[in-house]
Amino acid sequence: MNFDLDEKYLAIQQAALQLMRSVDDIATEADACNELHPGILKALQNSKLADLMVPSAYGGRFDKIDPLAICIVREAMMATSSHMDSLFALQGIGSYAVTCGGSDTQKDFWLPRIATAEILPALALTEPEAGSDLKSVTTEITSAGDELIVNGTKAFISNAGAASFYVVFAKEEAGYSVVLVPADAKGVSVTQTPELIAPHVLGDVHFDKVRIPASERLGQAGSGLELVLATLGVFRVSVAGAAVGLAQAALDEAVKHTHSRIQFGRPLAKLGPVAQMLADSWTEIEMARLLTYRAAIYAQQDSGANLHHSSMAKLAASEMASKVVDRCIQMMGRFGLVRDTKIEKLYRQARPMRIYEGSSEILRLGIAKELAHTV
Ligand SMILES: Cc1cc2nc3c(=O)[nH]c(=O)nc-3n(C[C@H](O)[C@H](O)[C@H](O)COP(=O)(O)OP(=O)(O)OC[C@H]3O[C@@H](n4cnc5c(N)ncnc54)[C@H](O)[C@@H]3O)c2cc1C
Repeated sequence: MNFDLDEKYLAIQQAALQLMRSVDDIATEADACNELHPGILKALQNSKLADLMVPSAYGGRFDKIDPLAICIVREAMMATSSHMDSLFALQGIGSYAVTCGGSDTQKDFWLPRIATAEILPALALTEPEAGSDLKSVTTEITSAGDELIVNGTKAFISNAGAASFYVVFAKEEAGYSVVLVPADAKGVSVTQTPELIAPHVLGDVHFDKVRIPASERLGQAGSGLELVLATLGVFRVSVAGAAVGLAQAALDEAVKHTHSRIQFGRPLAKLGPVAQMLADSWTEIEMARLLTYRAAIYAQQDSGANLHHSSMAKLAASEMASKVVDRCIQMMGRFGLVRDTKIEKLYRQARPMRIYEGSSEILRLGIAKELAHTV
């Protein structure tokens, strides 16, 4: 058992760190955007890291998508820019149903351009009335000869407006299905969602009797839930990677501050309760990092059978990140409360992680259900 990253992962980590150094001066501006930031996209394209999101048969880096590599990259990205992190993550999350269920024609057409980040995908599950309760979606797919008609609205969709295609989860006679809807199909429109405390490229996507060829279905009719679960199996753990990166960045801020600010004649870091907060934060980050890397390796081995490990890692790391960043603000006193500082940005950005890609409560339900299988 080796707890250190090997050469392959260290090289990927270095590439991600180098990319993030190169966008340091535009990160604040990009993270305030709810539209695509061209400088961040260009940097992602130049880095070639998006090739981690596609199998090598379609222009990707490895034969099979490697969740640990993705975790390590997201860890580095989230420490500097949530905009970059989200763009990168979505290249995989939005395209994985095509990788798993697409026809050769769909894969050949879309995936090589995902691997270079020439185009962006989106995964459209959530609806105005359906969030955690995915099975309550009302978007519908109906067959009309050799075409499918998609009708409904998806809400809070990352990359809406910037994506070249939407992978849409909807009801169909056979159950739930997933279809690929090109963004320029007639009847597709995008409206803005309310602005979030942590801005994100986000929008509501409307499908008004959109007609697409039946060949745009991904997988079999009725296999929609399977494809969504397959996506979560590979990518849920990567949210944990991002949460670890965010918490580490917050701790780095607190370490700098508490070593330079003197109170009662000593650096804050040497005052007992502050030292304790620093130590607890570091310890909790390391715990979450280990759990995340292990879950990523399990996801690589068998993503379906190990989804509960990914859920545990996402639960632990996202809850930890919120706790750590809050504690860091406490250590920084009034300086932690100043708007437009890095710590303030991290504080806001930690919050959505406990809600998207499975809220903490929904993850706990799944983990507890899995536990019941072990007795
Ligand atoms: C930044 C961001 C990006 C997003 N990107 C996408 C995207 O690209 N594609 C997409 O499809 N969606 C996206 N979403 C939507 C996201 O997936 C949903 O917000 C998430 O699924 C939770 O749904 P909800 O917000 O409707 O909360 P609800 O389902 O209304 O839940 C509200 C609260 O009730 C709790 N709850 C709900 N059901 C239960 C239960 N059975 N037991 C216990 N507690 C429960 C939840 O944990 C939560 O605390 C995004 C959201 C955000 C914030």
